[in-house]
Amino acid sequence: MKIEIDTHTHTLVSGHAYSTLKEMAESAAEKGLKGLAVTEHAPDMPGSTNVFYFQNLRVVPRKRAGIELLLGAELNILNEAGELDLPESVLSLLDITVASIHRPCYKGERDKVTITNAYIHAMENPYVDIIGHPDDSRFPSDYEILAKKAKETGTLLEVNNSSLSPVTFRENARENILKMLFCCKKYGTGIVLGTDSHVDETIADYSYAEELIREADFPKELIVNASLEKLKASLKRAKKL
Ligand SMILES: [Zn+2]
Ligand SMILES: [Zn+2]
Repeated sequence: MKIEIDTHTHTLVSGHAYSTLKEMAESAAEKGLKGLAVTEHAPDMPGSTNVFYFQNLRVVPRKRAGIELLLGAELNILNEAGELDLPESVLSLLDITVASIHRPCYKGERDKVTITNAYIHAMENPYVDIIGHPDDSRFPSDYEILAKKAKETGTLLEVNNSSLSPVTFRENARENILKMLFCCKKYGTGIVLGTDSHVDETIADYSYAEELIREADFPKELIVNASLEKLKASLKRAKKL
C-alpha cells in the first residue's frame, strides 16, 4: 500500500519526542514520502510548546529534503463541548490539524455518550481536519455516530499505527479500529493512516494499520492520504478557499 504523506508526527518541540524537524523531513524523504505533516502537541499538553510557536510557523519553508511539509498541531479536545486549546485565530494560520483526547488534558466525564459528544463538537469546528486515535477504550465512543458525523462535516478519522504497537498505553485499539473501519466503509467516510511518530525512524511505518485495513477489506479510495494532493484537497481549510 502506497501512502504519500504521513499525517501525524511530532518533533522535539512536543516535549516527549526525540527528533528535529530536519531529521524528520530527511527520514520522510528517505522513506519515499512526498509529504510530511508535523503536528506538535498544542499548549495544554504538559511539556509541549506555547501559542507563539504556532503563530510563527509562517517563517518555516514548506519544502525540505525535496518533500512538502504541512505544519500544524495536534489539538487537545478539552471537554464534552469539544473545546480546544488553541483559538480559531491561531488554527486558521496552520496547514493541518489533528484533534485528539489525551488523558492529562481532557476534563469531563468518560462515558460513551459524553466522549462521543466531545468528538462530535470537535468535528463541527471548521479548523479540525482529522480526529486523532479515536480508538482507546479508556475514552469509549460510538463509531456509527462518529463515522456519520465525520462524513457530514468533512472530517477525516485516523487509523493510528502507534495505537496498535505493543508499547501503546491505549486500550483495545485493535477491536475499536476494526469497528471504526466497518462504519467508515458503511458511510463512505474518509480515513487517514497516521504513524504518530515521536522519533524519525517510525515515519511511514504503517505495518499494524495496514494489517487491519486488509482484514476489514477497506476500500482504497477512502484512504485519503494515499495521495498528497487528495489529502490537501480534503482539508477543510482548502475547501474554504
Ligand atoms: Zn495523540
Ligand atoms: Zn500524536
